[in-house]
Amino acid sequence: MAKYIFVTGGVTSSLGKGIISASLAKLLQARGLKVTIQKFDPYINVDPGTLNPYEHGECYVTEDGAETDLDLGHYERFLNIFTSQANNVTTGRIYQTVINKEREGAYLGKTVQVIPHITDEIKRRMLLLGDQGYDIVITELGGTVGDIESLPFIEAVRQLQWELPDEDCLVVHLTLVPYLKAAKELKTKPTQHSVKLLSQEGVNPDIIVCRTERPLSPELRRKIALFCNVKTDAVIEAADAPTIYEVPLAMMREKLDQICLKKMDITNYNEPELGKWKEFLDKLKYPKNKINIGLIGKYIELQDAYKSILEAFVHAGAINECSVNVVNIHSEFISAENVSEKLNMLDGLLVAPGFGLRGIEGKILAVKYARENDLPFFGICLGMQMAVIEFARNVLNLKDAHSTEMDVNSPNPVIDLMEEQKKITAKGGTMRLGAYPCAIKQGSLAEKVYGKLEISERHRHRWEFNNAYLAAFEEHGMIASGKNPESNLVEIIEIRNHPYFIGVQYHPELKSTVENPHPLFVSFIKAANDFNENKNAKKKPSMQGEMI
Ligand code: GLN
Repeated sequence: MAKYIFVTGGVTSSLGKGIISASLAKLLQARGLKVTIQKFDPYINVDPGTLNPYEHGECYVTEDGAETDLDLGHYERFLNIFTSQANNVTTGRIYQTVINKEREGAYLGKTVQVIPHITDEIKRRMLLLGDQGYDIVITELGGTVGDIESLPFIEAVRQLQWELPDEDCLVVHLTLVPYLKAAKELKTKPTQHSVKLLSQEGVNPDIIVCRTERPLSPELRRKIALFCNVKTDAVIEAADAPTIYEVPLAMMREKLDQICLKKMDITNYNEPELGKWKEFLDKLKYPKNKINIGLIGKYIELQDAYKSILEAFVHAGAINECSVNVVNIHSEFISAENVSEKLNMLDGLLVAPGFGLRGIEGKILAVKYARENDLPFFGICLGMQMAVIEFARNVLNLKDAHSTEMDVNSPNPVIDLMEEQKKITAKGGTMRLGAYPCAIKQGSLAEKVYGKLEISERHRHRWEFNNAYLAAFEEHGMIASGKNPESNLVEIIEIRNHPYFIGVQYHPELKSTVENPHPLFVSFIKAANDFNENKNAKKKPSMQGEMI
């Protein structure tokens, strides 16, 4: 039988509930327990797949092809496990299930209501992963306590607090303890109000985690404990950390895991085994070199839009013992005139995934610069497609080559809609999604990178490389080094006479974790590091010469 921990949030959004949940899960996992995390989101979209990154940041895709909240990415990166469709549930999905059941006649004769029907369905989903062999299921509730749309979820937790044995259900509430500069003081009132609100909704938190910029004094902890009905040791300080990967250790120092274990009456645990994690952190803290990687995209101002890519850089940087400085470059503002000036300080270039016409030509110009200047290049999904278009236009001399996503009537559609996509009109959950196998060509860069010939990676796209052009590409030096073994769909392209030029139709960033950095990111950062060292080596002799 699994035990359940619910993580709620108060005062404001963006307090880092996902990171706190993932950190707690990591600590429990490090003690030998089998843990998973799920996220319940109160919005009405069935999943975030149809949401713009401005609304919701990155859409994270799981092995089974679910389009989910980006917090699932944190769960996988921290825990080194796969999550699935069951790990992310929205209000939309809950209502969809209940309404479908109503149409089937499952509630014949009854009025279907928020309580009990919606809350019952929420509870069913909350408990769903409990019979899959986990010791602990952590459920993060999206939104902030007090939101109208969160109410049924809080009510479901309230009911479960009564229905489950006391030691099988725990509520952790994350709040903010702001520092007021003018008063030179940390303020507990927002936390008190937030806990009061939660209590009014019938849920009494067992543990309060306080986000704060300054340390909480013992006195302050006692005050929070007293006014929020918890013991002082259940008031946890979550101070701002230099990297999210420090948070599990900070939570361990605060004994968050031990308090949970005690409250849940779990005794069969070990000392936390965090050797690999600490090794990673050491490498992260003491890099030997620093490189500049250009990230070319159109949501550059949004930190969350390329979350998994940025985290994969952190993992790959650590293993290469170099610090990766990501230079965010807005593709809309790249022109033939400024491309060299914008990109010449880079050691590597990554063209990001994306949809639609905006910023496309800038991406193509950036690819051209990387190809012509031997700059390590890595294209992901749309980034790979842009590399194909650039090659077609400038090497194969097909000046009007394009993707039919941007130009339906392109005379040279080198990127075209996948056959099975042509009949699809509905937008939600209809892309080519999730894990597909890929067969790698012997002797290719891809084989060197992966060290094997059969891989599986996650996808999220509708367009593909148009195989009618493949022979012409290969003749001119851009090869398809990875293909889907059944459909022959091109999954990897690379340029033979370039030090490092690779594009992938899938999303390797989704599978990079602290303990398993993705080989494509690791090798790309290595290539960029080599590029940087060569650049510096070329500079050095002349500097020495000048000194002499
Ligand atoms: N828009 C492109 C497609 O659907 C690329 C998608 C992506 O980059 N994820 O094929």
